[in-house]
Amino acid sequence: MSSKACDISIQGGGPVGLACASWILQKFPEAKLTLLDRNPIKDEDLVNADSRGIALSHGSKLLLDTIDAWPADCADIHRVHVSQAGRFGRALMTREELNQEALGHIIRYRDIHITLRQTLRNIQAKSPNFVWEHIDSNTEHVSMNARCVVHAEGGLFKKQDWVESGRDYGQSALVGLVEVENAIPHQAWERFTAEGPLAVLPSHYGDNILNLVWCGSPESSKERLRLSDQDFLHSLQLEFGSRIGRFLRIRDRRLYELGLNYRKQITKDNEVWIGNAAQTLHPVAGQGLNLGLRDAFLLSEKLAGLFSGSASEQTSVEIQNTLESYAQSRKADRTTTIGLTDFMARVFTSNLAPIVMARGLALTALQWLPPVKTALARQMMFGRR
Ligand SMILES: Cc1cc2nc3c(=O)[nH]c(=O)nc-3n(C[C@H](O)[C@H](O)[C@H](O)COP(=O)(O)OP(=O)(O)OC[C@H]3O[C@@H](n4cnc5c(N)ncnc54)[C@H](O)[C@@H]3O)c2cc1C
Repeated sequence: MSSKACDISIQGGGPVGLACASWILQKFPEAKLTLLDRNPIKDEDLVNADSRGIALSHGSKLLLDTIDAWPADCADIHRVHVSQAGRFGRALMTREELNQEALGHIIRYRDIHITLRQTLRNIQAKSPNFVWEHIDSNTEHVSMNARCVVHAEGGLFKKQDWVESGRDYGQSALVGLVEVENAIPHQAWERFTAEGPLAVLPSHYGDNILNLVWCGSPESSKERLRLSDQDFLHSLQLEFGSRIGRFLRIRDRRLYELGLNYRKQITKDNEVWIGNAAQTLHPVAGQGLNLGLRDAFLLSEKLAGLFSGSASEQTSVEIQNTLESYAQSRKADRTTTIGLTDFMARVFTSNLAPIVMARGLALTALQWLPPVKTALARQMMFGRR
């Protein structure tokens, strides 16, 4: 079989594309599937790549466990402390209240990426019709003769070559690894500052080395990137106060622009868009990859079902109907997750007095109304079913 002629072509070898390929082949090893991947062939060449800490939900862990793709380097969250800098309102969420082993897990992007590549390599050995094609990152377009095209090209806000619906929050995220004196193990901190959310999350490097995600205006974020380590730690301590402990060291600082970009239609004829290629979210609620993995899992069920069927050749109408049914089944989860994240990004970046007051009340209500807290946490952990 020519590598360019296949039933399914997945374009994009990021976490979502890799997971989708793995799930399709796990369910239907004979699938005539081609993955177009712009990343280097060797994992060693990715080791210095994207090191941001990603919060994966327990729901995502259950999905990745099905293909044995859970990274070893992972830190569990047992408690989340939410507060507002200099204002009233705070909430504490614990794993005991929700009766869960963990509220979430923090893993570096590159560890998720590399683990999924290793998983797919293992599955590849049992998949006679699977082609993993590495293409040069300068190659603009590869012409494919695929009966169904899955777009998983992902991308970051403002770096994508398509813009449809969404919002520019005028924010950047500065991420890095920060060392804290005597940090409380397994505790995540989310603090809403005048400029946006500031999160300090556990890491697998040890109890005192934490992942930092500090959202602010693009100008002040750039300034923070340029600060000396000493000045940076000083301004971080001013924003956070003393509750978390003393910040001692910072390393690996990087900037990302933040915004919302999403497609209203995620299918067209024989094409379908998943993961960040379908929606790019603000990280305030840590939902982007979680949602993308749910996209990939559901699509894999639909496509494996279709192509493993008894018909020798599926018609283009059958393919379109399958993609349409996929889009319908993703509607509720996508709408809720995109809407909730957009709402949180706007509310938690506003400085208008009534909103600040409402935010304090909401955090207080969250603390005292356990059913609301549980419902919100469940949505974050498992998405809408
Ligand atoms: C600061 C920050 C913090 C975040 N925190 C969280 C979090 O806590 N929790 C969470 O769930 N999400 C989080 N996210 C979102 C998460 O990173 C994304 O949702 C996730 O990476 C999307 O995966 P993807 O595979 O769809 O896209 P990507 O990760 O962008 O991967 C796409 C891949 O496709 C390749 N590609 C591009 N074009 C082509 C092409 N034409 N042909 C072939 N290959 C191509 C690219 O090289 C890339 O490897 C965060 C994002 C940011 C910026």
